[in-house]
Amino acid sequence: MQSNSLIESDRNHLIHPVSAYRAHEKRGATILTRGDGMYLTDSEGHRLLDAFAGLWCVNIGYGQESVVAAAAEQMRQLPYATGYFSFASEPTIRLAERLAELSPPGLNRVYFTLGGSDAVDSAIRFITHYFNATGRPTKKHMIALDKGYHGSSSNGAGITGLPAFHRQFDLPRFWQHHIPAPYPYRSPVGDDPRAVIDLSVAQLRAKVEEIGAENVAAFFAEPVQGSAGVIVPPRGWLKAIRETCRELDILFVVDEVITGFGRTGPLFACETEGVSPDLMTIAKGLTAGYAPMGAVLMSEDVYAGIADGPDNHLPIGHGFTYSGHPVSAAVALEVLSLYLQGGILANGQARAPQLLAGLQALGDHPLVGDIRAAGMLAGLELVRDKAGKTRFDPATQISDRLTTAGYRNGIIFRAFADGTIGLAPALSCTEAEMDILLTRLRQTLDEVV
Ligand code: PLP
Repeated sequence: MQSNSLIESDRNHLIHPVSAYRAHEKRGATILTRGDGMYLTDSEGHRLLDAFAGLWCVNIGYGQESVVAAAAEQMRQLPYATGYFSFASEPTIRLAERLAELSPPGLNRVYFTLGGSDAVDSAIRFITHYFNATGRPTKKHMIALDKGYHGSSSNGAGITGLPAFHRQFDLPRFWQHHIPAPYPYRSPVGDDPRAVIDLSVAQLRAKVEEIGAENVAAFFAEPVQGSAGVIVPPRGWLKAIRETCRELDILFVVDEVITGFGRTGPLFACETEGVSPDLMTIAKGLTAGYAPMGAVLMSEDVYAGIADGPDNHLPIGHGFTYSGHPVSAAVALEVLSLYLQGGILANGQARAPQLLAGLQALGDHPLVGDIRAAGMLAGLELVRDKAGKTRFDPATQISDRLTTAGYRNGIIFRAFADGTIGLAPALSCTEAEMDILLTRLRQTLDEVV
């Protein structure tokens, strides 16, 4: 099919996630046809450097043949096996064992999902079940951060702190609460790390006191808030919040859907602060986008609370046809071996200082207000006036203007509505490719000034 008729079919039939439907119909889709290494090609023949790893997921770059071979071999041998009842498949068991080995201490039990939204949704259901089964049924309320993103399921969207995910959706909103994000650039106490951490801990304590600790089940946190515009909390924040949760007797859930699998440096961002959560959600980098898969990891204590509950002779009614899909599991095992034995994780760690230095060199640009980075995850907050930190009004279409200018310059990144640019290049990026990325980024900024 010619790209023009494809664009017409897209306009007429395909509903795009998180888009303004009518505006999209007018603009039309950029149809991606091929990926190799760091580059994507579209139906017009443009070759675009992907500085966003698809949607913060293709951490190993495109076209990794060993992953294709692992998927093909698994499809040939056993394309599907249910995990229901007492069935299982080898790659799924091996992957669960490997994740238990590699994840922060104590997270020993793994429940597979299809992606991040249903991992968060499953975590919420498991937590609710846990407190009911362990005789504390009032503990139902969940707290998360403003601007946090925890997916689009009805439960997960409720703890997501982005207004677009609530608007017109009538979510049942009585058990979800939010506290302000630890956002040094715009914090009322300035950017001193200790002050930002102390304020955040005080806000969590105040929220728990308001609801009553006996009613609070869990606090959910992204170690770096990706969809908020890559907000990087000060070093020490995650640990301080973890300790506060322990003290207040509420479960601590870390959502590593973006930050997992080397995105911020170590395999999991929790490791930077030596933090072990009670539950952890993962997806994206688990399969590097080559197949859909996510997971909830939980501590032995949470698992035992559910497994040994008063109705434990009955099935625990939570499952998906594709939980632990063997093809996705085979893909994930190969992706993990590329990160660890194949050197991709180490390569990402080696490239991160180059990314940070390149972004810091953009600090003199009239549009650049704040530069934030954690490993290969970075945000550039653009402002209309640096002294006043004045945000762009989304009505100026700043995000569309940035995306279009990026496309002209051969680069794809995430442009948020307020003009923040999100960057998450594949961890396999070479030094030369990183130079190209940084050059194209500056050219793009120069064009929208
Ligand atoms: N949690 C976080 C932190 C995310 O960034 C995302 C997606 O971007 C999700 C959950 C939802 O994951 P998915 O899009 O795979 O459903």
